[in-house]
This record gives sequence, C-alpha cells and structure tokens, in this order.
Amino acid sequence: MRVYEISAQNRIMSVSENWDGFALANTGEGALSATVRGRPIWDFVGGLETRSYLNALFFAARRHRARVAVRYRGDGPTERRVYQLQIEPQGEEDLRLLHIPLDIARRFCRAPSAEELARLSCCSQCLRWGRGAAWDDSDLFHGHAPGKVDFAICPACRIAAQRAIDQALSSRQVH
Ligand SMILES: [Zn+2]
Repeated sequence: MRVYEISAQNRIMSVSENWDGFALANTGEGALSATVRGRPIWDFVGGLETRSYLNALFFAARRHRARVAVRYRGDGPTERRVYQLQIEPQGEEDLRLLHIPLDIARRFCRAPSAEELARLSCCSQCLRWGRGAAWDDSDLFHGHAPGKVDFAICPACRIAAQRAIDQALSSRQVH
C-alpha cells in the first residue's frame, strides 16, 4: 500500500516509506520521494479529464469531511492490478491518499496500433479502451503505446465516482 498526504493546495507533503521501491519498479526515478515532495499532485496526473475527475473527489472529501473511495486499475506490463484509492480528510484541508491493492493477476498485453491510438481513448481509471458509449476491456496496454495516449474517464467510472461522492455525503460526520 502506498500512502501520501497532500496540502490544501494539493501539494504532496509526505509519502510512505515504501514509496521509492514502487517508483523505481514502476514509474522510474522521476517519481522518487525526494523529487515529488512539495510538488503539485497535478504534475503526476496526465490529462485534463483525469485531473478534473480527481479534483471532484478531493473537493467532496474536503467539503463533506468524509472518506471517498473509488477503484482503479494500475497495471504493469505483465500484471493486471486493481487498487482502491481512498481519500481521507486530515486537519483543516489536507488529504491523505491511500492506494490499497485489491487484486493482482498475471496479464498478457500488447501495444495498441497507431490506428487504435488514433481511434480510441484509454480510461485512466479502469484502463478500458473506447470512445463515446462503447468501452471494452482489451489486451491493449497504454504503457506500450507507440504514441501519445488520449486518456479520458469512461462513463462507467464517472457514474462510480458520483456514487462514491454521494456515499461520502450520506456518511459525513456531523459535529
Ligand atoms: Zn473507466
């Protein structure tokens, strides 16, 4: 499990001790704890849709002072990984973000072709590929893409996020 805390201005304040091991194995030296600390979390989130998606979850956690939890996929080249992102309010406006592994399985994947890249978007949360209303689980792996991936949030993940926000609203602590 990886844990970090972000300030009211969404800057990364602290990261868990196992952070660097994960960064080296998955995202590289650019994401080491010494590098990420103090920087806006948005420096590490690609795509406008994903940023506004996460921003809505952060807003709900702060506004309702309640935990907000959503599932997402964080696959590696040979692994299908399902995580829960748990957002917990801390102090006045800070947030604690926990990435909890739920399920890890072996996975065989391939690079999307240039034609697929041009035609499809990849949901940054569930890693399905599609466009419009049609999104499919596939063997495409964004990490092997030969060009820029158009990351988006698919309709199912939007609905799940809204449900998580509604749950936070109904479970909020009353002082
Ligand atoms: Zn999705």
